[in-house]
Formats: sequence, structure tokens, C-alpha cells
Amino acid sequence: MKKLPEIPKHVRGVLFDYKVVQVERFDDPDMYGDIDCDKGIIRVLKNLEPAIKWQAFLHEFLHACEQEVGLKDLKDKKGDSDVDRLALAMFSLWRRNNWVLPGDGYE
Ligand SMILES: [Zn+2]
Repeated sequence: MKKLPEIPKHVRGVLFDYKVVQVERFDDPDMYGDIDCDKGIIRVLKNLEPAIKWQAFLHEFLHACEQEVGLKDLKDKKGDSDVDRLALAMFSLWRRNNWVLPGDGYE
């Protein structure tokens, strides 16, 4: 499989656009990413293995989409693990179908 591009710096959601920022660390060492839907900012830990970084990015991006389409039940622990599974499915579909990842074509 071809080498993963870097995650994008901007991404378009369902209705809104998001800036994607890579950060050195989070206060919580178990955190790989977060999202501020009001400010339109997704933050992802910088020093992650590429596939893990994509997973973290897609997870936060799906939280953005979830918010935009008005899904409300994905905030609890079970919901968050469902978001993780969806991010994994999305990532796998992209790669298995050789679809262009956002970092390849959109700045
Ligand atoms: Zn989450």
C-alpha cells in the first residue's frame, strides 16, 4: 500500500470547515486528539505513527460530522468507541479502494 500522506491542514465537514492543528502534547497523556466544534479546530498529537495519526484525525473529524448532523448519543464512552470503529472503517475503506486521502489533494 502506498505511503500515507500527512493529515490535512484543513478539512471540509458537512456544513463547516475545520482547521487541523498538530500539537506536541495534551495535558492528558492518553489523548490523541480533540475538537472544538465552536472554533472549528481539530487538534491531533504530532508524534504519532502515520496510521494512528489518521485514525485520531478521522475520529475527531467524525465528532465534527456527528455534531453537524445532530447525532447526540455518541458522547458517552460507548458512543466514543463507536466513533473509533467508524473512523477505522472509514480509513480502511479509503485505503482499500485507493481513494485519494484529503492530504493528497486539498490544502
Ligand atoms: Zn471521541
